[in-house]
Amino acid sequence: MRAVSLLSGGLDSLLATRMMIEQGLEVHALNFVTTFCTCTPKSSSCSAATSAVRQLGIELKVLDNTEGLIGAVKSPRFGYGRNMNPCLDCRILMFSRAREHMEEIGAEFLITGEVLGERPMSQHRDALRLIEKESGLSGLIVRPLSAALLEPSIPEQKGWVDRQAMLAISGRSRRPQMELAESFELHDYPCPAGGCRLTDPQFAARIRDLLEHRPDFTINDTRLLKVGRHFRLSPHTKAVVGREEPENERLTALAEPADVSMEPAEVPGPLTVLRGESQEPMLQLAAAITARYTSKAPDESAVRVALIGGPPQGRILEVMPAGDDELDALRIGA
Ligand code: SF4
Repeated sequence: MRAVSLLSGGLDSLLATRMMIEQGLEVHALNFVTTFCTCTPKSSSCSAATSAVRQLGIELKVLDNTEGLIGAVKSPRFGYGRNMNPCLDCRILMFSRAREHMEEIGAEFLITGEVLGERPMSQHRDALRLIEKESGLSGLIVRPLSAALLEPSIPEQKGWVDRQAMLAISGRSRRPQMELAESFELHDYPCPAGGCRLTDPQFAARIRDLLEHRPDFTINDTRLLKVGRHFRLSPHTKAVVGREEPENERLTALAEPADVSMEPAEVPGPLTVLRGESQEPMLQLAAAITARYTSKAPDESAVRVALIGGPPQGRILEVMPAGDDELDALRIGA
């Protein structure tokens, strides 16, 4: 019997997958990554999931769910969690794509590491039912960690898996999972809670600002949110200032042809990318912010800032560094 297991790289899905392998099933692991993952900064695979399949001795398929999740962030059917995380929409998308993958490889059902009541938005009874129904998987999801507390799934009813071996874990305590991991001698699970920037309040503030001022935002806009200090200069203009050299390089790579890039002309300092309208007052303000973060940041003397990329390239602006109060008033998130 073949099944697909949703493997996040966290402990729960690792344990659920291991339990099903113990029952002799042919388990194919499936992992989703998005630009919002905290564990996969650049690569297209999840290091935690890769480590998990290595321990389990099974193959891993990785799918990118960024585009779908951005659509859900812009317009969630089922709302947000505590921050800007549209978990129900996100999980429906993942489960729907998992169903397609099941069809492609001839798998009969889906395994997940969901634990009843562990996550407030997506793991209570009604949410589990809704996700099953909306993804076209009604009755076809086995949740080994909590199955004894749930209606028997079709695979349990038909005896494809042994319901007697299913567990009755619920709630947010991790202790039962830790004990199970011990009994399986699984010690390496580096990303136990999973990592999604949309649940982070500071990142959520940046997403909210983006949604308000640029509702048709792109993947590039979301990548920019992960880099540097962000300042809202006007409803149509934002400045992003690198904090250190790797961030300056990342900003250079993310700058689009219409963006203006600037940096201090004569002293070390950050690269700033101005996205949106770039009339003279915006250029001056962005230059003043850039000047504030130069290595010398002289309060009393002007700093020369060079426009090095984008339409007004080649100019030098001479500005006084912005004050801390001004910066605080313009800052988006931390
Ligand atoms: S925390 Fe993020 S990745 Fe996880 S379900 Fe919610 S939106 Fe999706």
